[in-house]
Amino acid sequence: MEIFTTKIALKAHLSAFSSKDKTIGFVPTMGALHEGHLTLIEYSKRATDITVCSIFVNPTQFNDPADLEKYPRPIEKDVALLQSVNCDVLFLPTVEEMYPPNDEPWFFDLGRLDKIWEGAKRPGHYQGVTQVVYKLFDIVKPSIAFFGQKDFQQCMVIQYMVDKLHLPLRLQMVDTVRDADGLAKSSRNVRLSSNGRKQALSLSKALFMIKQAFEKGTGPLQAKEEALSFLDKVEGVELEYFAICNPSDLSEIDRKQQDLRPLVVILAAWVDGVRLIDNIVLK
Ligand code: AMP
Repeated sequence: MEIFTTKIALKAHLSAFSSKDKTIGFVPTMGALHEGHLTLIEYSKRATDITVCSIFVNPTQFNDPADLEKYPRPIEKDVALLQSVNCDVLFLPTVEEMYPPNDEPWFFDLGRLDKIWEGAKRPGHYQGVTQVVYKLFDIVKPSIAFFGQKDFQQCMVIQYMVDKLHLPLRLQMVDTVRDADGLAKSSRNVRLSSNGRKQALSLSKALFMIKQAFEKGTGPLQAKEEALSFLDKVEGVELEYFAICNPSDLSEIDRKQQDLRPLVVILAAWVDGVRLIDNIVLK
Protein backbone atom coordinates (compact mmCIF):
# COMPACT_ATOMS: atom_id res chain seq x y z
CA MET A 1 0.00 0.00 0.00
CA GLU A 2 1.31 3.43 -0.91
CA ILE A 3 0.76 6.26 1.57
CA PHE A 4 0.48 9.90 0.50
CA THR A 5 0.20 12.92 2.75
CA THR A 6 0.01 15.66 0.10
CA LYS A 7 -2.63 16.37 -2.55
CA ILE A 8 -0.01 16.96 -5.21
CA ALA A 9 1.73 13.60 -4.72
CA LEU A 10 -1.56 11.69 -4.60
CA LYS A 11 -2.91 13.41 -7.73
CA ALA A 12 0.32 12.66 -9.63
CA HIS A 13 0.09 8.99 -8.63
CA LEU A 14 -3.59 8.67 -9.57
CA SER A 15 -3.41 10.56 -12.87
CA ALA A 16 -1.37 7.68 -14.31
CA PHE A 17 -4.31 5.35 -13.59
CA SER A 18 -7.14 7.55 -14.83
CA SER A 19 -5.27 8.26 -18.09
CA LYS A 20 -5.18 4.48 -18.70
CA ASP A 21 -8.96 4.32 -18.25
CA LYS A 22 -8.62 2.45 -14.98
CA THR A 23 -11.42 2.92 -12.47
CA ILE A 24 -10.73 4.43 -9.06
CA GLY A 25 -12.72 3.36 -5.99
CA PHE A 26 -12.73 5.70 -3.01
CA VAL A 27 -13.53 5.15 0.66
CA PRO A 28 -13.34 8.31 2.76
CA THR A 29 -13.01 7.70 6.53
CA MET A 30 -12.00 9.37 9.76
CA GLY A 31 -9.91 6.37 10.82
CA ALA A 32 -10.21 4.21 13.95
CA LEU A 33 -11.04 1.60 11.37
CA HIS A 34 -13.27 -1.39 12.02
CA GLU A 35 -14.94 -4.09 9.95
CA GLY A 36 -17.51 -1.58 8.63
CA HIS A 37 -14.76 0.46 6.96
CA LEU A 38 -12.95 -2.67 5.78
CA THR A 39 -16.15 -3.94 4.16
CA LEU A 40 -16.34 -0.70 2.14
CA ILE A 41 -12.73 -1.28 1.04
CA GLU A 42 -13.59 -4.85 0.02
CA TYR A 43 -16.57 -3.62 -2.05
CA SER A 44 -14.30 -1.11 -3.74
CA LYS A 45 -11.61 -3.71 -4.43
CA ARG A 46 -14.18 -5.92 -6.15
CA ALA A 47 -15.76 -3.14 -8.22
CA THR A 48 -12.78 -1.00 -9.32
CA ASP A 49 -9.14 -1.24 -10.47
CA ILE A 50 -7.53 0.76 -7.68
CA THR A 51 -8.84 1.52 -4.20
CA VAL A 52 -8.01 4.71 -2.33
CA CYS A 53 -8.89 5.11 1.34
CA SER A 54 -8.53 8.44 3.10
CA ILE A 55 -8.13 8.92 6.83
CA PHE A 56 -8.81 12.47 7.95
CA VAL A 57 -10.49 13.55 11.16
CA ASN A 58 -12.21 16.54 9.61
CA PRO A 59 -12.43 19.39 12.14
CA THR A 60 -15.11 21.32 10.22
CA GLN A 61 -17.73 18.59 10.67
CA PHE A 62 -17.47 18.48 14.47
CA ASN A 63 -19.96 20.79 16.11
CA ASP A 64 -18.70 19.66 19.54
CA PRO A 65 -14.99 20.46 20.20
CA ALA A 66 -14.84 17.80 22.97
CA ASP A 67 -15.97 15.15 20.46
CA LEU A 68 -13.20 16.20 18.04
CA GLU A 69 -10.65 16.11 20.85
CA LYS A 70 -11.74 12.64 22.00
CA TYR A 71 -12.00 11.14 18.52
CA PRO A 72 -9.73 8.02 18.48
CA ARG A 73 -6.67 8.17 16.17
CA PRO A 74 -4.92 4.74 16.23
CA ILE A 75 -3.04 5.37 12.98
CA GLU A 76 -0.52 2.49 13.13
CA LYS A 77 -3.30 -0.03 13.72
CA ASP A 78 -5.31 1.54 10.87
CA VAL A 79 -2.39 1.20 8.43
CA ALA A 80 -1.99 -2.48 9.38
CA LEU A 81 -5.74 -3.10 8.89
CA LEU A 82 -5.70 -1.45 5.46
CA GLN A 83 -2.69 -3.56 4.49
CA SER A 84 -4.54 -6.68 5.63
CA VAL A 85 -7.31 -6.04 3.05
CA ASN A 86 -4.83 -5.01 0.31
CA CYS A 87 -5.98 -1.42 0.07
CA ASP A 88 -3.89 0.13 -2.73
CA VAL A 89 -3.52 3.72 -1.57
CA LEU A 90 -3.94 5.58 1.72
CA PHE A 91 -4.34 9.35 1.73
CA LEU A 92 -3.38 10.75 5.12
CA PRO A 93 -3.38 14.55 4.93
CA THR A 94 -2.83 17.04 7.75
CA VAL A 95 -5.43 19.68 8.62
CA GLU A 96 -3.20 22.34 6.98
CA GLU A 97 -3.03 20.27 3.78
CA MET A 98 -6.83 20.12 3.55
CA TYR A 99 -7.48 23.64 4.84
CA PRO A 100 -4.67 25.97 3.73
CA PRO A 101 -4.75 29.49 5.21
CA ASN A 102 -6.14 31.03 2.01
CA ASP A 103 -8.97 28.48 1.76
CA GLU A 104 -12.33 29.68 0.39
CA PRO A 105 -15.25 29.69 2.84
CA TRP A 106 -17.77 26.93 2.13
CA PHE A 107 -21.54 26.91 2.07
CA PHE A 108 -23.59 24.35 0.21
CA ASP A 109 -27.37 24.66 0.23
CA LEU A 110 -28.72 21.27 1.23
CA GLY A 111 -32.29 22.49 1.68
CA ARG A 112 -34.37 20.48 4.14
CA LEU A 113 -31.69 17.79 4.53
CA ASP A 114 -29.58 20.19 6.60
CA LYS A 115 -32.49 21.09 8.88
CA ILE A 116 -33.81 17.68 9.95
CA TRP A 117 -32.49 14.89 12.23
CA GLU A 118 -28.67 14.94 12.16
CA GLY A 119 -28.75 18.32 10.40
CA ALA A 120 -30.90 19.81 13.18
CA LYS A 121 -29.08 18.15 16.07
CA ARG A 122 -25.58 18.88 14.76
CA PRO A 123 -25.69 22.37 13.25
CA GLY A 124 -22.99 22.82 10.62
CA HIS A 125 -22.14 19.11 10.54
CA TYR A 126 -23.23 18.52 6.93
CA GLN A 127 -21.58 21.73 5.79
CA GLY A 128 -18.31 20.28 7.11
CA VAL A 129 -19.05 16.87 5.59
CA THR A 130 -19.85 18.26 2.13
CA GLN A 131 -16.85 20.60 2.32
CA VAL A 132 -14.36 17.83 2.99
CA VAL A 133 -15.99 15.24 0.70
CA TYR A 134 -16.07 17.75 -2.18
CA LYS A 135 -12.36 18.47 -1.65
CA LEU A 136 -11.54 14.75 -1.46
CA PHE A 137 -13.56 13.94 -4.60
CA ASP A 138 -11.72 16.74 -6.39
CA ILE A 139 -8.34 15.28 -5.41
CA VAL A 140 -9.09 11.56 -5.91
CA LYS A 141 -11.52 11.87 -8.86
CA PRO A 142 -13.11 8.50 -8.09
CA SER A 143 -15.26 6.50 -10.48
CA ILE A 144 -17.20 5.09 -7.53
CA ALA A 145 -17.25 6.30 -3.91
CA PHE A 146 -18.43 3.96 -1.16
CA PHE A 147 -20.41 5.07 1.91
CA GLY A 148 -22.03 3.10 4.74
CA GLN A 149 -25.79 2.87 5.30
CA LYS A 150 -24.92 3.33 9.00
CA ASP A 151 -24.86 7.07 8.15
CA PHE A 152 -28.07 6.99 6.13
CA GLN A 153 -28.68 10.74 6.07
CA GLN A 154 -25.04 11.35 5.14
CA CYS A 155 -25.49 9.09 2.08
CA MET A 156 -28.48 11.23 1.07
CA VAL A 157 -26.53 14.44 1.60
CA ILE A 158 -23.61 13.26 -0.55
CA GLN A 159 -25.96 11.98 -3.28
CA TYR A 160 -27.72 15.38 -3.22
CA MET A 161 -24.37 17.17 -3.68
CA VAL A 162 -23.27 14.80 -6.46
CA ASP A 163 -26.57 15.37 -8.30
CA LYS A 164 -26.67 19.15 -7.78
CA LEU A 165 -23.07 19.67 -8.91
CA HIS A 166 -23.23 16.98 -11.62
CA LEU A 167 -20.09 15.37 -10.21
CA PRO A 168 -18.89 12.62 -12.57
CA LEU A 169 -18.97 9.68 -10.16
CA ARG A 170 -21.28 7.04 -8.80
CA LEU A 171 -22.07 6.47 -5.13
CA GLN A 172 -22.58 3.05 -3.66
CA MET A 173 -24.23 2.58 -0.29
CA VAL A 174 -23.04 -0.49 1.65
CA ASP A 175 -25.11 -2.26 4.37
CA THR A 176 -24.31 -1.56 8.01
CA VAL A 177 -21.82 -4.01 9.50
CA ARG A 178 -22.69 -5.09 13.05
CA ASP A 179 -21.08 -6.96 15.91
CA ALA A 180 -22.41 -10.52 16.32
CA ASP A 181 -24.95 -9.30 18.91
CA GLY A 182 -26.29 -6.58 16.60
CA LEU A 183 -24.53 -3.41 17.79
CA ALA A 184 -23.63 -1.30 14.75
CA LYS A 185 -19.85 -1.02 14.43
CA SER A 186 -18.69 2.51 15.10
CA SER A 187 -15.35 4.17 15.82
CA ARG A 188 -17.04 5.71 18.86
CA ASN A 189 -17.87 2.30 20.41
CA VAL A 190 -14.34 2.08 21.88
CA ARG A 191 -15.37 4.93 24.20
CA LEU A 192 -18.18 2.85 25.75
CA SER A 193 -17.59 1.20 29.14
CA SER A 194 -18.69 -2.45 29.34
CA ASN A 195 -21.93 -1.35 31.01
CA GLY A 196 -22.36 1.39 28.37
CA ARG A 197 -21.93 -1.17 25.63
CA LYS A 198 -24.72 -3.30 27.16
CA GLN A 199 -26.97 -0.24 27.25
CA ALA A 200 -26.04 0.69 23.67
CA LEU A 201 -27.07 -2.76 22.51
CA SER A 202 -30.67 -1.87 23.32
CA LEU A 203 -30.65 0.53 20.34
CA SER A 204 -30.09 -2.15 17.70
CA LYS A 205 -32.42 -4.44 19.69
CA ALA A 206 -35.16 -1.82 19.39
CA LEU A 207 -34.59 -1.56 15.63
CA PHE A 208 -34.71 -5.34 15.20
CA MET A 209 -37.86 -5.50 17.36
CA ILE A 210 -39.56 -3.11 14.95
CA LYS A 211 -38.37 -5.08 11.91
CA GLN A 212 -39.61 -8.36 13.38
CA ALA A 213 -43.01 -6.98 14.42
CA PHE A 214 -43.36 -5.25 11.04
CA GLU A 215 -42.59 -8.48 9.17
CA LYS A 216 -45.29 -10.25 11.21
CA GLY A 217 -47.83 -7.65 10.11
CA THR A 218 -47.80 -5.11 12.96
CA GLY A 219 -48.25 -1.56 11.66
CA PRO A 220 -44.98 0.43 11.65
CA LEU A 221 -46.18 3.07 14.14
CA GLN A 222 -47.52 0.43 16.53
CA ALA A 223 -44.18 -1.44 16.24
CA LYS A 224 -42.39 1.81 17.06
CA GLU A 225 -44.52 2.34 20.19
CA GLU A 226 -43.57 -1.15 21.40
CA ALA A 227 -39.86 -0.49 20.77
CA LEU A 228 -40.11 2.86 22.56
CA SER A 229 -41.66 1.30 25.65
CA PHE A 230 -38.79 -1.28 25.63
CA LEU A 231 -36.20 1.53 25.40
CA ASP A 232 -37.98 3.46 28.15
CA LYS A 233 -37.08 0.70 30.58
CA VAL A 234 -33.37 0.68 29.67
CA GLU A 235 -31.33 2.82 32.04
CA GLY A 236 -28.71 5.20 30.64
CA VAL A 237 -30.14 5.61 27.13
CA GLU A 238 -31.20 9.12 26.23
CA LEU A 239 -32.87 9.28 22.83
CA GLU A 240 -32.35 12.37 20.66
CA TYR A 241 -34.69 11.17 17.96
CA PHE A 242 -36.35 7.94 16.95
CA ALA A 243 -38.54 8.08 13.86
CA ILE A 244 -39.99 6.07 11.02
CA CYS A 245 -39.42 7.90 7.77
CA ASN A 246 -39.87 7.87 4.05
CA PRO A 247 -36.33 7.01 2.85
CA SER A 248 -36.61 9.26 -0.19
CA ASP A 249 -36.75 12.50 1.84
CA LEU A 250 -36.53 11.43 5.51
CA SER A 251 -39.94 12.91 6.29
CA GLU A 252 -41.55 11.21 9.29
CA ILE A 253 -44.57 9.11 8.35
CA ASP A 254 -47.97 9.70 9.94
CA ARG A 255 -50.92 7.32 10.41
CA LYS A 256 -52.09 7.82 6.80
CA GLN A 257 -48.69 6.85 5.35
CA GLN A 258 -48.25 3.54 7.10
CA ASP A 259 -48.59 1.53 3.89
CA LEU A 260 -45.60 3.26 2.30
CA ARG A 261 -42.72 0.88 1.37
CA PRO A 262 -39.79 0.90 1.94
CA LEU A 263 -39.47 2.75 5.24
CA VAL A 264 -36.41 3.62 7.28
CA VAL A 265 -36.25 3.72 11.07
CA ILE A 266 -33.62 6.19 12.23
CA LEU A 267 -32.35 6.96 15.71
CA ALA A 268 -29.74 8.93 17.61
CA ALA A 269 -29.05 8.50 21.31
CA TRP A 270 -26.60 9.33 24.05
CA VAL A 271 -25.23 6.36 25.96
CA ASP A 272 -22.42 6.59 28.49
CA GLY A 273 -21.44 10.06 27.25
CA VAL A 274 -21.19 8.82 23.63
CA ARG A 275 -23.54 9.88 20.84
CA LEU A 276 -24.59 6.92 18.68
CA ILE A 277 -26.71 6.65 15.55
CA ASP A 278 -28.27 3.63 13.86
CA ASN A 279 -31.04 2.80 11.38
CA ILE A 280 -32.81 -0.09 9.71
CA VAL A 281 -34.74 -0.32 6.45
CA LEU A 282 -38.20 -1.96 6.43
CA LYS A 283 -39.14 -3.36 3.05
P1 AMP B 1 -16.37 7.40 9.53
O1 AMP B 1 -14.94 6.98 9.65
O2 AMP B 1 -17.19 7.10 10.74
O3 AMP B 1 -16.53 8.77 8.98
O4 AMP B 1 -17.00 6.44 8.42
C1 AMP B 1 -16.43 6.31 7.15
C2 AMP B 1 -17.36 5.51 6.28
O5 AMP B 1 -17.57 4.22 6.87
C3 AMP B 1 -18.76 6.15 6.16
O6 AMP B 1 -19.21 5.97 4.83
C4 AMP B 1 -19.57 5.37 7.13
O7 AMP B 1 -20.95 5.34 6.81
C5 AMP B 1 -18.95 3.99 6.97
N1 AMP B 1 -19.26 3.16 8.16
C6 AMP B 1 -19.08 3.49 9.46
N2 AMP B 1 -19.54 2.51 10.25
C7 AMP B 1 -20.03 1.55 9.44
C8 AMP B 1 -20.65 0.27 9.64
N3 AMP B 1 -20.86 -0.20 10.87
N4 AMP B 1 -21.02 -0.44 8.56
C9 AMP B 1 -20.81 0.04 7.30
N5 AMP B 1 -20.22 1.22 7.03
C10 AMP B 1 -19.85 1.96 8.08
